Amino acid sequence: MAENTNAFAMAQQQFDQVADLLGLDHQIREMLRWPMREFHLRIPVRMDDGSMRVFQGYRVQHNDARGPAKGGLRFHPAETADTVRALAMWMTWKCAVADIPLGGGKGGIVLDPATLSQDEKERLCRAFIRSIWRNIGPRQDVPAPDVGSNPQMMGWMMDEYSLITGQYTPGVITGKPVGGGGSLGRTEATGYGVIYTVREAMKQLKMDSTKTLAAIQGFGNVAQYAAEGFINQLGGKVICVSYWDREDRAAYTVSKADGIDPDFLMSITDQYGTINKDQAIKAGYKIEDGDEWIAKEVDVLIPAALEGQINGESVHRVHDRVKILAEGANGPTTPEADAVLKERGIFVIPDFLCNAGGVTTSYFEGVQNDMNFYWTKTEVLEKLDDKMTQAFDAVYEMSRSQDVFMRDAAYMVAIDKVVKAMELRGWI
Ligand code: NAD
Repeated sequence: MAENTNAFAMAQQQFDQVADLLGLDHQIREMLRWPMREFHLRIPVRMDDGSMRVFQGYRVQHNDARGPAKGGLRFHPAETADTVRALAMWMTWKCAVADIPLGGGKGGIVLDPATLSQDEKERLCRAFIRSIWRNIGPRQDVPAPDVGSNPQMMGWMMDEYSLITGQYTPGVITGKPVGGGGSLGRTEATGYGVIYTVREAMKQLKMDSTKTLAAIQGFGNVAQYAAEGFINQLGGKVICVSYWDREDRAAYTVSKADGIDPDFLMSITDQYGTINKDQAIKAGYKIEDGDEWIAKEVDVLIPAALEGQINGESVHRVHDRVKILAEGANGPTTPEADAVLKERGIFVIPDFLCNAGGVTTSYFEGVQNDMNFYWTKTEVLEKLDDKMTQAFDAVYEMSRSQDVFMRDAAYMVAIDKVVKAMELRGWI
């Protein structure tokens, strides 16, 4: 039978497997297999040439038993109701495993944002809020940026919501620009969060972090700060990163056997995470095929680019030296590869634990908005470290006590928390 690649079917399948492990009742499964609420929106927008264009939008609130729904807003031409449903469900688990008092939500607008002018984008963002404002808010559902959307767009949406409600409400949305209600530390949060969990994993595996090497896929927001943190916080070396070269339409691995310098590489990388190859070569870096990062002789692999990178084929290239796979990206490992990693005893820090630093700092942004009092970057990062460390410990403990792999343990911790909240509220 062909593998079902529908994202929502996959999300339900993953849930069903853990529900079986946990022995969940029928009514609990019926509640969690589906979103609690979803909105399908037709959004009319005036174009610069005077014509009207109608966009399809979605906002899905999968579960808000633990607090207001939380999740990004994607602007992508291939968005569907099912991708948004799946992403909303995964957000429920991510917020629960990170132990932040929020539920899971996600939104999408079907378009390629590069086809709109800046003014058209602003009108679309404002029109989206006019369509959905009754059903979102700091106590209901808090969107954030995601693929194709950015802090400026969040600023427009926050403004429109505040104008409609007649009250300055920065907490309606996160990922706003710093100075416009955003939080310090958000830029570093996901990459540093990855490193906090790697540090904890190394403690458990009794590894001396200063003697370790890492290979990273990607050199965007997550990978850049994961690389910098691996070197400056753990004292290890990163021997390669990789990137997608838009001009060559190819991926490259950029490596240096005695360790890359992330500050230098950041200085020659554009806003999309594309490294200037010629300058890298001039500085003594070796340029290899995009797939080479996975085969490096290192202790830690950090995929921080795309989904499905460690699959049934590529997993066999993972070097025997690798002890930890830290999933900075969402969904970088396929179930087939997962089975091989389990067999080889590689310690996996699953994506919705490993990259939860982003949503945790978004939660901190909402808290600061509510208080109307803002923390320093050091305060934000200290609080983030505490949260990530506690989240790691809870999953590790579950994995030990139930004798299950880290990914299953993370699902078990998350689902257990959501079920408890539903019980406490008398829903089930
Ligand atoms: P980004 O767009 O900033 O960077 C992506 C990087 O991947 C770029 O360097 C790009 O060149 C590279 N890349 C693209 N295709 C590649 C390929 N085929 N081979 C090698 N490199 C390739 O994105 P990001 O925000 O760093 O996100 C990376 C991953 O982390 C995604 O899976 C995202 O969903 C996940 N994530 C991000 C955050 C966040 O806060 N940014 C939070 C949670 C999860």
